[in-house]
Amino acid sequence: MIITITMNPSVDITYLTNTFKLGQLNRTKTPTINIGGKGINAGRAAALSGSDVTLTGFIGGKIGDLTQILLEEEKLFNIQMNQVSGETRHAVTIMHDEGKHTEVVEEGPKLDDTNIQELLEKVLHISKEKPVNAICICGSANSTDAFLFPKMIQYLKDNLEVEIPILVDISGEKLTCLLKDNSVTPDFIKPNEHELGDFVGKTITTKKEALEALHLSCFDGIKFVIASLGEQGAVCRINDVYYDVRIPKIEIKSTTGSGDATVGGFAYALEQNFDTKQMLKYAMACGMSNAQHEESGKICREDVLAFTQFIEVTAI
Ligand code: ADP
Repeated sequence: MIITITMNPSVDITYLTNTFKLGQLNRTKTPTINIGGKGINAGRAAALSGSDVTLTGFIGGKIGDLTQILLEEEKLFNIQMNQVSGETRHAVTIMHDEGKHTEVVEEGPKLDDTNIQELLEKVLHISKEKPVNAICICGSANSTDAFLFPKMIQYLKDNLEVEIPILVDISGEKLTCLLKDNSVTPDFIKPNEHELGDFVGKTITTKKEALEALHLSCFDGIKFVIASLGEQGAVCRINDVYYDVRIPKIEIKSTTGSGDATVGGFAYALEQNFDTKQMLKYAMACGMSNAQHEESGKICREDVLAFTQFIEVTAI
């Protein structure tokens, strides 16, 4: 089984309109509504790959109830979300004027130490009931504790009865704190070019620049580091061997969630004991397949398997 942790899920509302004018009444057709959150998206990709997936994290209030109902309707995963006070957030996107989009994203319920402790205990409890092959901690958390993620990883490493790979996909200050905290290392991280660039304080647009960053000592000890670069594929550091992953050009619909699908695909590949090259190919192919769908985390397994035939992984 794969457990994903989504600290701050969202009800994603997307309006499609020809024009959008500030300070005026804008009328639109009914929006599409999806449940978002990086851990949930990763869970979708892993479940659609064939894994047994349990979603954990936090939901709150009436919007939390809606989140639960919509997730149940997907019939993809076991849902074990904890209740928290406050309302699960909305994330509103207005797609307008042929290609522009405007977003309004709420901050979501504040999390305190008790919430975190209850969540971690639930994860431990689930892992005692069934063998768990990966735990994915993905996305932001509305917590003022910059060291929240290193603390969560440490707690899990100290208290899990067996060793379980911990995959982490976070960004910004929380990623920086995790990488600078030498006392604890996740097993996997997947910064995209912007996240990696923010961390090293440079703009990263090429594989050469990303590869240079992966040599930094803060990545020592992390078994699987994937620096993803959208349509360029990725460069990776796996057990201190560096890889270039080249992907073919494809038609795309929306790349939102491609990184999350990559994480979910990697968790599935770990569960299947794929070798390194197969793991990277499968994870990348999930990101590609997601880019061919409007919905975040959605993949088509047949397409994923077909894409893996055209992905090239070379040690560099
Ligand atoms: P994130 O969503 O975290 O920003 P990326 O945009 O780097 O992550 O996407 C993750 C992976 O998804 C890429 O490494 C690639 O395999 C796939 N992907 C993303 N964008 C595209 C694209 N335009 N064409 C083909 N594959 C893509």
